[in-house]
Amino acid sequence: MFTFEKIGIIHSCFREKFGIPRQPGLVPEARAILELLPPYNRPEAVRGLEDFSHIWVSFVFHACLGDEWKPTVRPPRLGGNRRLGVFATRSTHRPNPIGLSAIELEKVEVGPGKVLLHLKGVDLLDGTPVLDIKPYLPYSDCISAATGGFAAEAPATSLEVRFSQDALDCCAAVPQLEALIRRILSQDPRPAYYGKGNGKRDFGMKLLDYDVQWEMNGDVVLVNAIIPIGEKSIP
Ligand code: SAH
Repeated sequence: MFTFEKIGIIHSCFREKFGIPRQPGLVPEARAILELLPPYNRPEAVRGLEDFSHIWVSFVFHACLGDEWKPTVRPPRLGGNRRLGVFATRSTHRPNPIGLSAIELEKVEVGPGKVLLHLKGVDLLDGTPVLDIKPYLPYSDCISAATGGFAAEAPATSLEVRFSQDALDCCAAVPQLEALIRRILSQDPRPAYYGKGNGKRDFGMKLLDYDVQWEMNGDVVLVNAIIPIGEKSIP
């Protein structure tokens, strides 16, 4: 039995699980801030980290706590209809719900009692508790001869994303919001069991301070509305 205390918390653009990319780096526009919490919020604890372009972040899948785990799961990449061992996948439903992501570190911001790591291309939910941070070491961690099992290739990004004029007008005020939405939706966040290709359907996700609403018709995504949902301050 071990007890771990979180060392930090993630403030992310993703305010719900639906729509979060399935791995880091797939949506470079997806930003987050990792805030170290007391008593770990000491600038000297990250001294030298700014020289690394990427970090490993281990974290708790806190939105899955209490969910059951099963020895086999159905990875979305296999269309949701083939079962593999949980330890052969990156499923969030594991005996110990610990996640691991290699994430681009854009900037280290420190001050008295303040350590903020600015992250890019995250696959993390807002509020995610962080267990540990380590530098990514290319000489050892980047294994060019590695094979990728059922996920050998990056997922397809083939959907065409269109915006209504209303939705475009909402994006105009927020830098990169349109690019962020385009990248997320082109990767088709629908769960594998959604009978893709069926008739028109409506979807929504909470992103930053907006409720993003879109419809899908075949391989075309139409963003209908982007509605503000109140403020959340990022430190
Ligand atoms: N790179 C990590 C995560 C892969 S699973 C790993 O391999 O361990 C990625 C999915 O985790 C995302 O699509 C999102 O739906 C989910 N997720 C991200 N943060 C989460 C959290 N705090 N709690 C539960 N699920 C989370």
